[in-house]
Amino acid sequence: MIATTPVHRLRALKIVRIGRSVSRDLVLRLRERVDSAFARAITETDVVDYEAPAIDAIDASLLTRALEEEIGGHILGVTAADLHASDPIDEPEFLFGGKDNRNDVAIVSTHRLGSRDPEVGIARVLKVGLHELGHNFGLVHHYRTRRESGGGLCPMTKGDFNRFGERAYLRAVIDQRGMGFCEACRRVIAAHA
Ligand SMILES: [Zn+2]
Ligand SMILES: [Zn+2]
Repeated sequence: MIATTPVHRLRALKIVRIGRSVSRDLVLRLRERVDSAFARAITETDVVDYEAPAIDAIDASLLTRALEEEIGGHILGVTAADLHASDPIDEPEFLFGGKDNRNDVAIVSTHRLGSRDPEVGIARVLKVGLHELGHNFGLVHHYRTRRESGGGLCPMTKGDFNRFGERAYLRAVIDQRGMGFCEACRRVIAAHA
C-alpha cells in the first residue's frame, strides 16, 4: 500500500486547516492528540492554513490530490466540507474521513461528526483524524471490541457501516473509540520511530 514511502517523510506532519470554517482550536487539539498517539514516530507537527472557498461538499480524492500538489509531504487535512467518495461501490457515498493510497495525505471532515454536545463532536473529529493518519503508517482496520486501558476501542476499529447506518455508526463505533492505539497498532507505529 505505502511500502515505497520513505519512512523519514512521515516524521514531520503538516496538520492542514482547510479554510476558515475549521476552528483553529480544533486543529490545535488534534495536534495534541496526534503528538501523544504517534509519539516518537511523528517528531514534528506544524499547523498550516490552507485558504479554500467555503463549499458544501468535495470529492475526497480530489481534495487529497490538491493537498499533495499544493502543500505536499505528510499531511492530515481538516475540512468542514462533506467528503464524497468517487468510487462509492462498497462505501457509503460520503466519508467521515479518508486516506489516499497514492500519497501520504489523510483527511477528516467535521461535516457529519457534529453532536448536540460539542465535546462529543470534537472527540469524533479527533478519533477519525487518528484513524485516517493511522492508515498513513500502514495500520489496517480491525473489528474486535476489546477495550484498551483508557476504556475505549482502538481508533482503527471499524464496524459494518451498512448494518448500522450513519447516526448509529457514530454512536456504536466512532464514539466507542478511544484516543490511544491498541498494542498491535502501537507496534506498527513504533517500527516507524
Ligand atoms: Zn479506515
Ligand atoms: Zn489497533
